[in-house]
Amino acid sequence: MATQNAINGRDSPKLHFVLVPPMAQGHTIPMIDMARLLASRGVHVSVITTSLNAARIKTVIDRVKASQLPIQFVSLSFPCSIVGLPEGCENIDTLPSNDHLKSFLDACALLGEPLILHLKEQKLPPSCIISYFCHIWTGDVAREFRIPRFAFNGFGGFSTLCRHIVLTNELYKNISDEMEVVVVPGFPHHLELPKGQLPSNVGGRGMDKFFEELKEDQPRLDGIIINTFDDLEALYIESYQKAIAKKVWTIGPMSLYNKDAADMAARGNLASIDGNRCLRWLDSMKPSSVIYVSFGSIASPIPPQLVEIGLGLEASNRPFIWVIKAGDKSPEVEKWLSEGFEERVRSRGLIIRGWAPQVMILSHPAIGGFMTHCGWNSTLEGVATGVPMITWPHFGEQFLNEKLMVEVLKIGVAVGVKKMTRWGIKNSEVLVKRKDVQKAVSALMDEGEDGVERKKRVRKMGEKARKAMEEGGSSYGNMTLLAKHVQRLQTNMLAPA
Ligand code: UDP
Repeated sequence: MATQNAINGRDSPKLHFVLVPPMAQGHTIPMIDMARLLASRGVHVSVITTSLNAARIKTVIDRVKASQLPIQFVSLSFPCSIVGLPEGCENIDTLPSNDHLKSFLDACALLGEPLILHLKEQKLPPSCIISYFCHIWTGDVAREFRIPRFAFNGFGGFSTLCRHIVLTNELYKNISDEMEVVVVPGFPHHLELPKGQLPSNVGGRGMDKFFEELKEDQPRLDGIIINTFDDLEALYIESYQKAIAKKVWTIGPMSLYNKDAADMAARGNLASIDGNRCLRWLDSMKPSSVIYVSFGSIASPIPPQLVEIGLGLEASNRPFIWVIKAGDKSPEVEKWLSEGFEERVRSRGLIIRGWAPQVMILSHPAIGGFMTHCGWNSTLEGVATGVPMITWPHFGEQFLNEKLMVEVLKIGVAVGVKKMTRWGIKNSEVLVKRKDVQKAVSALMDEGEDGVERKKRVRKMGEKARKAMEEGGSSYGNMTLLAKHVQRLQTNMLAPA
């Protein structure tokens, strides 16, 4: 068991952290990395999941078991039928539409009682809860055991701060012109963006009430945990901390927990490609020559948009790995792929249909660029592996992540998309044409001065990311401070009055 750098002293009470990830693949992954990071420092961890979600992350559960880290996966039964959800809708990516989102969150809230019962039966009482910020119901569990509760929000510092300012000032209200530019007041530096790109709350039946409850829950939290590191985002984290008058712990990039290819490949769903085949393909390519294209776990380009991406990649004349999600496979795209495209790009294109071992791919020296939808995890994984990015935001806070990468850090090239698609609502337009894909790939992979400087900047940031996670680094230290903080609270609670 890898616990040489244990946070717990021999005489201090044992720590037991209860982690409640979202039932959404993209943001579950960092919480499992978090569980392994904590456990590798001697903290006992319970990860709360449901049977279908546990089945999807079986590879990582098996690896955790084999590693003998003190992590217990607790699988609760998800009450679909009670809230009127179709049976099997245990993950956000299986919801028929975002009108089911509120029922889905209600079903999550029903996990509170079984979780309390489970924890009461454990020999080691819980020391704290770290739950995804949408799981407001974990407040009741924390109060039952009189333990602190921290929210993990799954976003970066830049977007978290901007989102906070936008929501507090209700800047998203009464938008008549999506292209009208607004300045974000009180941001640490000048930040302006078109109203149509402002982060707002996800819509759907009943969601307004939920977001009210979320706002009311904020003061009851004992702190916020963010997957980022100080060298990347200290400026925004400090401002956010002041704005909410709460401690914010930066403990990332957590993907760097995964050191060997097998661990990297085991993150999330079962990969749709054999890891060794993927590595052999990458080994056959020149260093920094391959562009990796993936839009995360929920952004969903329509079939004609996928065709434009493929044609743009073909025209770029560069090697590529292109991930087409299981949910985006359609007879139309399959037909187009098999009727000539695959054959034409066979020598330099690898198409993964389904789930890709993303961090394993990004960590390979053959990768020279990452075309990303700018989900925070993907963005941070790009930074941590030192890979420059083509930014193609879709929705949510992704346009803000693009701003950070392209305008602030200057480690990305924008594909040029201006219009937000809405999560859960099929967009009907082709937003990016093949020539724009080709242009962005050429600009990113360019060997000229701009390209070389961009590469240097992102590599330097990647090194800082690794340092942050090593002993003596800021994120490593913050994890120690977080655990010690919980330990202090626990000791005070156990002390005789
Ligand atoms: N991911 C992966 N393989 C895939 C698609 C996604 O491993 O084929 C992982 C990726 O490495 C990241 C997460 O899923 O950790 C996606 O999270 P992100 O915040 O980037 O986007 P979301 O899916 O939440 O939109």
